[in-house]
Amino acid sequence: MKKEMKFISRCTVALVGTAVFSSLGFSVFSGPFALCYGISVEGADIGCAASVQAYENALNDVNTKIVADFGADAAINPEPNISVRVLPRDEIPSERELYNNIASLSEKLIPCYTILHGGTEIAYFSSQDEANQAVSSYVNALSPENSEARLDGDFKIISSYAAPSEIMNAQSGLEHMLSIRPLSVLSTVTERIEESIPFTETVSNDASMYMGEIVVDQEGEEGKKITVTRVHYKDGEELFRELISETTDSEPVTRIVRAGTKTPPTGIGSGEFIFPTSGVISSLSGERWGRNHNGIDIADKTGTDIMAADEASVKFAGIASGFGNLVILDHGNGYQTYYGHCDSLIVHTGDIVEKGAVIAKMGSTGNSTGPHLHFEIRKDGSICNPLDYVSKP
Ligand SMILES: [Zn+2]
Repeated sequence: MKKEMKFISRCTVALVGTAVFSSLGFSVFSGPFALCYGISVEGADIGCAASVQAYENALNDVNTKIVADFGADAAINPEPNISVRVLPRDEIPSERELYNNIASLSEKLIPCYTILHGGTEIAYFSSQDEANQAVSSYVNALSPENSEARLDGDFKIISSYAAPSEIMNAQSGLEHMLSIRPLSVLSTVTERIEESIPFTETVSNDASMYMGEIVVDQEGEEGKKITVTRVHYKDGEELFRELISETTDSEPVTRIVRAGTKTPPTGIGSGEFIFPTSGVISSLSGERWGRNHNGIDIADKTGTDIMAADEASVKFAGIASGFGNLVILDHGNGYQTYYGHCDSLIVHTGDIVEKGAVIAKMGSTGNSTGPHLHFEIRKDGSICNPLDYVSKP
């Protein structure tokens, strides 16, 4: 009852003050100056309240804290001297400053640093460093490594007063904050991922190659894509992913392939022959120097191409008496053709050759007096006159 009486008396003082200044006109206090209520206790100035009510509220808040920690007997009961003052607006103390000024009157409370969330006091520390450490450990505990993290919400560390038993260190403050989770931690991690871009393949038909044959004109190469993603977390739990950029570092290179479409030769001739080389016919078939000449001779330079007169399999490719380097083609239809005196052989026994394929080079091996091709056509083993089948183009 006694306390309440004192509050009433202070309010009376305040009302008188307001009345005095009202009569002077409030226009004086517009602009940078404002009216406030200076408060001193036992001759010591504890600052200025924006209103008497603000002072009363701050005193009540201080006493609520003291009573909670030390019991009703510890409540402070200052005898304030309140006077009206005019101060620059920005010098009027905040409610928190007023609270601290009043709290400093109590011998029970000590100065501290308080983590404040909204208007709620979360934890008390003896130094700003301890408070900062607790906060940064809290942020670290609730965010992934290498993230950019921040507290979500109104949060600050202020100078304040607390009971000594309330003071925490960085570790106990962290544990306390983790147990009550006053604030969420929002964080982001930027991920840079390199991905390969597969190459495509184009295949074109090539009638000059046999079926099943493949030529790679250009090898394929994978390209490279770089994706930057920002992953958002709340209290360490992934919320969503945000695509920041997608860059092609290198384009893929197309693989270019040609595939043969030609039906492979079977080695069976058509029965129609082509003139097997170039040059002049230097000797006909028939009787010559008292012996039978079994074919025709076609003379040209050493190394001139000799072609298969028709599709065939190679029956023989090697050295034969008199013929020198000889190729015998079996056309699979009763016909065989002979190519003698070659300088070099290109095909091997067992090869399948198409009509017109180069099988040897012209030379002068065996019984020969100069570079020429000795060319024979045999039908079921009998000698034929090649000029009955071919003519010089
Ligand atoms: Zn001959």
